[in-house]
Amino acid sequence: MNGSLLLEKQQVYYRTGATRSLEFRLAQLAKLRQAIVEREDAIMQALREDLNRSEQESFMLEIGLVLKEISFVQKRLKRWMKPAKVKTALTHTFSKGYIVPEPLGTALIIAPWNYPFQLAAAPLVGAIAAGNTAVLKPSELSPAVSEVLSSLIQDTFDPSYVAVMEGGVEVSRELLDLPFDKIFFTGSVNVGKQVMAAAAKHLTPVTLELGGKSPAIVHHDANLKLAAKRLAFGKFINAGQTCIAPDYVLVHHSVQDEFIEQLRKAVAKFYGAEPLAHPDYGRIISERHFSRLAGFLKDGEIVMGGRADELSNQMEPTVLTKVDWSMPVMQEEIFGPILPVLVYDELQEAIDRINERPKPLALYLFSENPAIQKRVIEAVPFGGGCINDTLMHLATPYLPFGGVGESGTGAYHGEYSFKTFSHMKSVLKQTTKFDFAFRYPSAKGGLAII
Ligand code: NAD
Repeated sequence: MNGSLLLEKQQVYYRTGATRSLEFRLAQLAKLRQAIVEREDAIMQALREDLNRSEQESFMLEIGLVLKEISFVQKRLKRWMKPAKVKTALTHTFSKGYIVPEPLGTALIIAPWNYPFQLAAAPLVGAIAAGNTAVLKPSELSPAVSEVLSSLIQDTFDPSYVAVMEGGVEVSRELLDLPFDKIFFTGSVNVGKQVMAAAAKHLTPVTLELGGKSPAIVHHDANLKLAAKRLAFGKFINAGQTCIAPDYVLVHHSVQDEFIEQLRKAVAKFYGAEPLAHPDYGRIISERHFSRLAGFLKDGEIVMGGRADELSNQMEPTVLTKVDWSMPVMQEEIFGPILPVLVYDELQEAIDRINERPKPLALYLFSENPAIQKRVIEAVPFGGGCINDTLMHLATPYLPFGGVGESGTGAYHGEYSFKTFSHMKSVLKQTTKFDFAFRYPSAKGGLAII
C-alpha cells in the first residue's frame, strides 16, 4: 500500500471515533505490550545484528524503557484524559472554563537507527495514548530492527489504525508530503529542517527530536572517579551513537590528567584491555559513518584508544586532547566513540564556549558544589541533562525529554508524550441565567436577567 492510500484509510478510521475511548486506548497499549514481550528475543537478535548491542543494553535502553513507558501511561491515562477545570476571570462570572485533551488525528513517526526500537515504539505509545492513528517509518540503516518492528505491528494492529512503512529517504519524503495531523521526527538537525519545511506546507504540528554537540563540564571539585565512570558509560555505550551522549568534555586544567587516568580505568573495567575484541562492544552503523569518524582522528592528540577495525566497523573508545574549535571533530556532532577533552581555567570560559554554539540537546555537569551547579544550570540553555551523571534523565518518565533551538522542538515521555500528540482544546461554558448588557453594541450598561 502506498503512503497516500494508507493515510486515507487511517483518516477514515480515525473519523469513526473508534480510537478515542479510554477503554480502546488501554486495550491497544496492552496489545502492544504483549506483542513486545512475546518478541523480546527477536528484538534483541535484531539489535545484535544491526549494532552488536548486548542483551543487557538492549533491555535497559530499548525494550525495558518502552515497557516501563507503557505501564506508566496505563496507570495514569484516565486522569490525563479528563477535561481539566480552570478558573474563570471576573468578567466571566458564573461561566465555567475547561480544557479538553483531544487527539490530533493521524500521526507520522519517523525514527533513526541508533536506538531503532525504542525511538519508534516510545513515540507510538504517546500516539496511541492520545487517541491517534499512526504510521511509523523506521530507519533503513537498521534493517533487522525495521523488519521486526514491521512484523510486530502488522501482527498486532490493523493498518488503518497503526502501520509501518519501511524504506529510506524516498519513502520518508513521500510520507512527509502528505497532510498528516502530526509529525514526530527523531534524527539529525539537517533532516529536521527539511521535515519542518515539509510540515509547513500543511501547517502540520511537529515534534523534532534532534541532535548536536552535547557538552560535559568536569569542575575541579568533582568526584573524578565517578565522573570518569559515568562519562565513559554515557559516551561509549552503543559506540557513542547516542543522541544525548556527551560529545566533548570541558575539564578544569588542574584535574585534566587525573580525569583522563580515571577514564582509562573505567573503560578498561567496562570493555577490557582490548575493547575491539569484547563481544558486546558496539559497532558503527555503516562504512560511511565509520570513515567519517576515522577522519576525526587526523586532528589533535590521541591519548587513549584510537585503533579501529574496518572489517567490523568498530573503533576503540578514544580520547583526544589538543583539539580546537576549528577542527572538524569540534564542528560536527561526533556520534561515535571519540571523546575530545578540552581544558578551561575559569568556569565562565567553559560557559561562554558552550553558549557560543547552538543550544545543545544535553548538558552534563560534574561538581560537588551547589553554587556551581546552580550557576551552570541557570547560565546555559540546553534540552535536558544531569548533574553528576549522564543519560539518566532520559530514563525517567517524569521528566520531559526534548531539545531546544537547534537540538529540537517539543518534548515527550510520560505525560509529555500524551500532550505532544494531543490538542488542548479550550472551552468556556457560559451561563444562560443572566446576561451583561454592556458587552453588546450601543449598550447602555447594566445586567439583563434572562
Ligand atoms: P537522519 O536524520 O539521517 O535520519 C532519521 C530518519 O529520517 C530516518 O528514518 C531516515 O530514513 C529519514 N531521512 C533521512 N534523510 C531524509 C531526508 N532527506 N528527508 C526525509 N527523511 C529523511 O538521522 P540518523 O542518522 O538516523 O540519526 C542520527 C541523528 O539523530 C543524530 O544527529 C542524533 O543526534 C539524532 N538523534 C536524536 C535523538 C533525540 O531523541 N533527540 C535520538 C536519536 C538520534
